[in-house]
Amino acid sequence: MTAVTPESLSTRLDEARRDYAALVDRGLSLNLTRGKPSARQLDLAADLLRLPGDRHTASDGTDCRNYQGAPLGLPELREAFAGHLQVPVEQLVAAGNSSLELMHDCLVHALLGTLPGAARRWADEERIAFLCPVPGYDRHFALCERFGIEMIPVPMTAEGPDMDEVERLAAADPAVKGIWCVPKYSNPSGVSYGDETVRRLAAMPAAAPDFRIFWDNAYAVHHLTEEEVGIADVLAACAAAGNPDRTFVFGSTSKITLAGAGVAFFGSSPANVAWLTGYSGKRSIGPDKVNQLRHALFLRDADGVRAHMARHRELLRPKFDAVHRILTERLGGTGLATWSAPKGGYFVALDVLDGCAREVVRRAADAGIALTPAGATHPYGDDPRDSTIRIAPSFPDLAELEQAIEGLATCVRLVGYEKLAA
Ligand code: PLP
Repeated sequence: MTAVTPESLSTRLDEARRDYAALVDRGLSLNLTRGKPSARQLDLAADLLRLPGDRHTASDGTDCRNYQGAPLGLPELREAFAGHLQVPVEQLVAAGNSSLELMHDCLVHALLGTLPGAARRWADEERIAFLCPVPGYDRHFALCERFGIEMIPVPMTAEGPDMDEVERLAAADPAVKGIWCVPKYSNPSGVSYGDETVRRLAAMPAAAPDFRIFWDNAYAVHHLTEEEVGIADVLAACAAAGNPDRTFVFGSTSKITLAGAGVAFFGSSPANVAWLTGYSGKRSIGPDKVNQLRHALFLRDADGVRAHMARHRELLRPKFDAVHRILTERLGGTGLATWSAPKGGYFVALDVLDGCAREVVRRAADAGIALTPAGATHPYGDDPRDSTIRIAPSFPDLAELEQAIEGLATCVRLVGYEKLAA
């Protein structure tokens, strides 16, 4: 399709109105909201539920059925993920079932305890702020809201957060204690951080001596193409820059094995690992080692993880291809929208005309297509341009997804042409 001209606008608006009425008449009930694996993806881990069978001993002799042993989690599982998460194995902790929980706990312990390098507890500071690259992950923002941490949006670029902004804000304000980063195949735009971004994050001066990068590498091995995008090693970069304690690395098998029933990881400097495990040892006698053993037996090693992710890719790739194809067919050249073409991860970010995202989501809901609320990709649910919509293609089957994206494209045309005609 070509860009709209004043002459063609009313025809296009009429067409879009007709298509939308037909869409509503179909009475669809489709859901593109959360980035959940599909049942077929979960089936890939069916054997996990039959493990560990009669086995209960970890490689270091720990009896996984009992308290104690393997204080940092099972060594064989940490070995399998150390390379993928770019954390030396002795600095990688295998923990419970959720990385979000680990992020929550790190915030709580920083508020109520004293971080390495900190002058005082965050709870004793007058003000705490985090830099939030936008668009970003709504649950990071929800954690900040939960703890009264002010959020300062920073725009994303194709190479990661706008580093001029990040450097300026981190250097200027000692209340800025951290930054949220999803460094590979980011949620939702699919951006992977460039090497220079990682280097600058590691080396930049920060006014807060206890500044922390929350490096949520949730999509470390979640490639959608044959190209396995690599990112720079942030812990090594921080150590080389003289800021060894700057970064907390998080990851999990939620979108590798079973969502919410996998294993989460924390990696950092030796001082930070001692800091967290000191507190988490009070919170719990230890993680679910039986689940860790089952994961170690199922995934085996780093290559086993890679092979398993290739099976996910076979299921996910056609869905992401369909999103791209339909958006291109329906919206390409119209000037009404742009969208990301991620090489990995779980999301596509769709940018519509300024001021239109909420209305597109509303019209889609009226047509039976549930989308993530517009604004969810921004702190306080406020996308100042009201333009970003997050699409999560993984959960529906291909036929349903195609219907939903066709319908979404109709809503984008309707709302976009209405705006241009207004
Ligand atoms: N981090 C990001 C960026 C995510 O997109 C998600 C889930 O969608 C999570 C963390 C949640 O991970 P977990 O299940 O390990 O808590």
